[in-house]
Amino acid sequence: MTITEQSTETATVHHWIGGAAHESGSGRTAPVYDPARGVVTKHVALADDADVRAAIDAAQAAFPAWRDLSIARKQAIMFRFRELLNERRDELAEIITSEHGKVLSDAGGEIARGLEVVELATAFPNLLKGAYSENVSTGVDVFSVKQPLGVVGIISPFNFPAMVPLWFFPVAIAAGNTVVLKPSEKDPSAAMWMAELLKEAGLPDGVFNVLHGDKVAVDGLLTAPEVQALSFVGSTPIAQYIYETAAKHGKRVQALGGAKNHMLVLPDADLDLVADAAVNAGFGSAGERCMAVSVVLAIDSIADALIEKVQERVATLRIGDGRRGTDMGPLITGQHRDKVAGYIDIAEADGAKVVIDGRGIEVDGDADGFWLGPTLLDNVPTSSKAYQEEIFGPVLSVVRIKSFEEGVELINTGVFGNGTAIFTNDGGAARKFQNEIQVGMVGINVPIPVPVAYHSFGGWKQSLFGSSKAYGAAGFDFFTREKAITQRWLDPSHGGLNLGFPEN
Ligand code: NAD
Repeated sequence: MTITEQSTETATVHHWIGGAAHESGSGRTAPVYDPARGVVTKHVALADDADVRAAIDAAQAAFPAWRDLSIARKQAIMFRFRELLNERRDELAEIITSEHGKVLSDAGGEIARGLEVVELATAFPNLLKGAYSENVSTGVDVFSVKQPLGVVGIISPFNFPAMVPLWFFPVAIAAGNTVVLKPSEKDPSAAMWMAELLKEAGLPDGVFNVLHGDKVAVDGLLTAPEVQALSFVGSTPIAQYIYETAAKHGKRVQALGGAKNHMLVLPDADLDLVADAAVNAGFGSAGERCMAVSVVLAIDSIADALIEKVQERVATLRIGDGRRGTDMGPLITGQHRDKVAGYIDIAEADGAKVVIDGRGIEVDGDADGFWLGPTLLDNVPTSSKAYQEEIFGPVLSVVRIKSFEEGVELINTGVFGNGTAIFTNDGGAARKFQNEIQVGMVGINVPIPVPVAYHSFGGWKQSLFGSSKAYGAAGFDFFTREKAITQRWLDPSHGGLNLGFPEN
């Protein structure tokens, strides 16, 4: 019986600890919705301190043997996991859509991006090679090795229930660590499905554990002395809390936060390309992406033409249940839908023009789903909360500007620095933008510049607390620590007593 089937029968998603489902003793649960129907389909256990302890103990117990398992055997497991995930990705996509609401093709897209990191992780023997210097002094050699940290915690958000965990755990595991993953309680089943798949791939029990829950589970991981490092992705206030609390408890921490991504459109850009990009990046996954475009900074002379092209494209979108071949699904919860709709009210009250209104949209789906249609706002004042705050929904704001410099200034004075893009055919302008912009990931005629797995993902300013990005070489650095060893094998010429500081 798979965890997914069991979940349906018992209507409870349990933890995954030590290679098996683990029932919580807490008695606390949270509802899990099908957002396209607006109904509770299951409940997820919320951990208490005993569950946290069980997960950490299982990971701690599994660590020595996993650390010491040969590279060849670890690599075989990583390759097998990659093959299984690739073969069975459609199953996972259905689970994601049923709990998150994003359309099936988009769920497939997040799995494809996650698979890239698994593929990167299969190359760990090369990425973890140390260095060796012979004869640093007569008869003395120095070498350095990269060793795993031990038990590491990963805390992930609702919007990418497969991809965000996959940014971290393949690298953490390949580097020899053991993992406790705390997924979002809003869509917990993708993590359970991946846990089963890892077991099927041959991963020893306890190397990968899933702990469901809320602040209790998170605080347990933040304070447990055995947890060596924490990787967090979520909203900025929680990211800051995670960063400060983990650091206070002596842990290595990377905490990725929220975003407000701008797209700067210069007058020489191809407006058809821009309109396609704005619609894809603004409304894909109902805007619930940390790399979604939220603001279009349009030079005034082309703003009217661009808005018209966006309107034409939005008119062709089918909004509805993601299992029915639609283009855009619902939002994650009714509460979040109402919050996003509230930002449209705020923008309107602050003087913005609602060009396309997603409130009260007709959809191809159940009336009780958490719907909000694509919304286009024009002339949004930069003093409005709707401009300044992360909305995290299908709301695209146009801000009209007079110059390239004004656009750069607006982006650089924002508190977030996750992603941005410029659309232009002027290489000099693009180069200046790429050089001066205070943002961690930049697209040039590319709207959602999520780096491939062998580069690294992470923003600047309030979009990332800590200095370490996700995956790529930075990921392997985060999940290992270097040890430098100086060795001498004595020969009769070792020199005898010398109380001075060692010299070469
Ligand atoms: P969230 O911050 O509400 O939750 C993230 C995780 O933190 C979840 O596992 C949740 O259970 C836990 N959590 C929530 N409240 C907590 C508390 N008070 N104490 C301890 N833990 C707590 O974020 P979300 O709504 O799940 O996800 C959306 C947010 O994530 C957006 O702000 C989005 O921009 C951000 N995000 C950022 C990136 C990035 O790469 N920078 C990627 C994806 C999502």
